Amino acid sequence: MPKYAMVIDLDRCMGCRACMEACKVENNTPTAHFWMYVFRFEEGHYPNTHVWFLPRPCMHCDNAPCVKVCPVGARYKREDGLVATDWDRCIGCRYCEVACPYGVNFFNWKDPRKNAYLDWDDADLRPRTDGNSPPYRNPDLDRRYGKEGRRTAGGGRLRGVIEKCTFCVHRVERGLKPACVANCPAFALLFGDLEDPASEVSQVLKRKPSFRLLEELGTEPRVYYVGGHPPHPESKPVEEIVARV
Ligand code: SF4
Ligand code: SF4
Repeated sequence: MPKYAMVIDLDRCMGCRACMEACKVENNTPTAHFWMYVFRFEEGHYPNTHVWFLPRPCMHCDNAPCVKVCPVGARYKREDGLVATDWDRCIGCRYCEVACPYGVNFFNWKDPRKNAYLDWDDADLRPRTDGNSPPYRNPDLDRRYGKEGRRTAGGGRLRGVIEKCTFCVHRVERGLKPACVANCPAFALLFGDLEDPASEVSQVLKRKPSFRLLEELGTEPRVYYVGGHPPHPESKPVEEIVARV
């Protein structure tokens, strides 16, 4: 059984946010829902300032508080390490959102639009897309995954359920990388099997010192960072996140 993990190289990330874009297109997430988010921090004092970037997906924690508090077993940990949400079971109580210390859960307040991010039927776009609208009609999002056969890839999106990063389970089960990893032009994101000593993630973690976010909470994240450092009190966010619903 693989033990999936993500490694994020902060020395490589250039803050282009292609990973955020790729995630939104792949998973057709609603406006202002960012399953992957790239924080921008500024440190130092003028003129000696620098900006750095921190990509933040769901941490797919081994000791996940969100799993512990879910009263209906909709949030669960798969054997391969993915923390999944069964959208057929979620009752929208939002306990997971409160329990998660990483702020990666998003509640669906509205009925899903067929494409909340980009209207592929827009008259200006139609000549370019030729009537195709791949992201929201991605049938892979509606299939069932894992040996439990549960609908966990986002296709069950309904008003009143919670969503978060799935590590692109629909891609991983076909041997592909998550969309954010596949589309990072700086190769800052790696994904693979920690049980395989030859995998890129195992190799990088062997070579470089790493840290995980909020490790002191004991959540045991499956997302490791190399290069850079965790945010500290001197790290000032460049922008505030304003959630629109
Ligand atoms: S795509 Fe890669 S380089 Fe660009 S923001 Fe995301 S992690 Fe950083
Ligand atoms: S980051 Fe939050 S939502 Fe993701 S597994 Fe950990 S506690 Fe759950």
